[in-house]
Amino acid sequence: MSKAPHLTFDLDMPGVSRGHLVVPGGSDRGELLLPVFSLNKGEGPRLLVTGGNHGDELEGPLVARRLIEWLQKEQICGRVIVLPVLNPLAVEAWSRNTPLDGLNLNRIFPGRADGSVTQRIADAVSRVLLPMADTVFDLHSFGPRWDFPPAATTHPIADPDLMARTVRMAEAFKLPLTLVWQHNDTVGMFDIVAQNRGKVFVCAEFGGGTVGANNLAIYEAGVRNAIIALGLVEGEAESLTFREQKSCQTLETHPSDELKSPATGIFEPRRSVFDEVKQGDVIGILHLMDSPAAESIDICAPGPSIVLGIASGAHVDANKLVAIVARPLKL
Ligand SMILES: [Zn+2]
Repeated sequence: MSKAPHLTFDLDMPGVSRGHLVVPGGSDRGELLLPVFSLNKGEGPRLLVTGGNHGDELEGPLVARRLIEWLQKEQICGRVIVLPVLNPLAVEAWSRNTPLDGLNLNRIFPGRADGSVTQRIADAVSRVLLPMADTVFDLHSFGPRWDFPPAATTHPIADPDLMARTVRMAEAFKLPLTLVWQHNDTVGMFDIVAQNRGKVFVCAEFGGGTVGANNLAIYEAGVRNAIIALGLVEGEAESLTFREQKSCQTLETHPSDELKSPATGIFEPRRSVFDEVKQGDVIGILHLMDSPAAESIDICAPGPSIVLGIASGAHVDANKLVAIVARPLKL
């Protein structure tokens, strides 16, 4: 019989503790040790911060590491647990999914103790760390093929009280975008499992493109703002400048706001993030490169909306997402 997942240290020890979350071995590989940091200052909010859920989104692990340094100097109460890399196998491969079993960690929560390695990671986090927190920040980024603003996101939640508290927490990041994102692929997300247990869960989608110093500074400031709003650290929220603008918008997006490529080709963006568009405005053009006629197809706005994310110079297969639009949130 395999061992149960566990921590190598006592989370209730006061002050700074470091150790590992032990994910037991299975038939596919031996046990996995995930570095965990705990900063325990007694009574107060209980926060879990995770990064590296998707292995090609490296801003999260970097910001999580920076937070550990900051919290050691600034935290005044409560408990923060930081797990910078949820899925080291995916991060080492710079891959969204785990190469060993092909699974997307963020679609198989709460995991399985007797499953493959990705399922065992989800099981260990769900059973050992999630019960220790009331609030969870899961630090993602939108991936290297997209232009997407720094955003604090959630999904529609059936419980109106938890929905309102979650949107307030997301807005406390004071990032350029707070987003309520309704899509059809939420089964097995870390968010859903945490929310079903009554926890406030905010997923930070920290921009797109490659990791850069300016973006990292915005991301880190956003997470610090939320930690200050929770009362774990004293201070004033920082207002953030994104592409020379200081503004925060709260938007919502639905499955019908996802614009897909009608064929295989190269997508050319014609609009930028936060552009306002009318119905029929061209958002991008798909160039069919295998046709001698050099045909192209306009991708147009389905209605009055705001460009939320746009593929940046990608070769895309048919029926792949190339742009997302959104509208101001109506709760
Ligand atoms: Zn992600």
